Amino acid sequence: MASIDVLYSCSSCHRKYALEELSSAQQLCKDCRRKYPSVQCKFCQLDFHQLDSTAHESVCEQCSKEHRQYGKPKNCSICNLLTAFKGDTCTRCTHSRKKYGPPIKCDTCKLCCAFVKSDESKKKVDGKTLCLLCTLNYKKTMFKKRQRELEKSGISNKKQKIERSEDEHRKVEVVDPFNNEIMQQLEKAQYEIVALQKQTSPRLRKAGRGQ
Ligand SMILES: [Zn+2]
Ligand SMILES: [Zn+2]
Ligand SMILES: [Zn+2]
Ligand SMILES: [Zn+2]
Repeated sequence: MASIDVLYSCSSCHRKYALEELSSAQQLCKDCRRKYPSVQCKFCQLDFHQLDSTAHESVCEQCSKEHRQYGKPKNCSICNLLTAFKGDTCTRCTHSRKKYGPPIKCDTCKLCCAFVKSDESKKKVDGKTLCLLCTLNYKKTMFKKRQRELEKSGISNKKQKIERSEDEHRKVEVVDPFNNEIMQQLEKAQYEIVALQKQTSPRLRKAGRGQ
């Protein structure tokens, strides 16, 4: 019995799921992700699922935790978002700076708020150097684009299939095995007739001459 037995509970409905079935940010299952509206955090601008329907503000769990702890935030000295609850730099940027070194310029928003990432994570955004928000936007755009392409190719695949099956239908009508056999026999017979005529006619002629 291997790793399949390790299950994690959804943070909302508490049913057990494999880790990859839960969202990485909030550990929500697919059903709960559908159930709760996706909203944007007014501080960090990240999308999250609003679990508390009575909440009058969209603030993600991380930001509301820091908000409760430190009060009103300042603009972060790196990402410029209203996320620096403690000090000049937000938790996210502080963490990233520790992990990846000083921030560099983002290819899209041109702010100095991106971090040097591994080649693998860069590959996911076509080799661009992007800050977190631009990475998310880029992925969202790519996802929508791919979805549209899939939808389009799905329709054309269906069309091709219909056309192909119509073609096959036509072919079946033309290449009827029974008809085909008769045609072949007829052709063969005609060849034999022609061959016989060729063989017999000179003889006939000869014979005729001889008579
Ligand atoms: Zn759930
Ligand atoms: Zn937030
Ligand atoms: Zn920041
Ligand atoms: Zn950016």
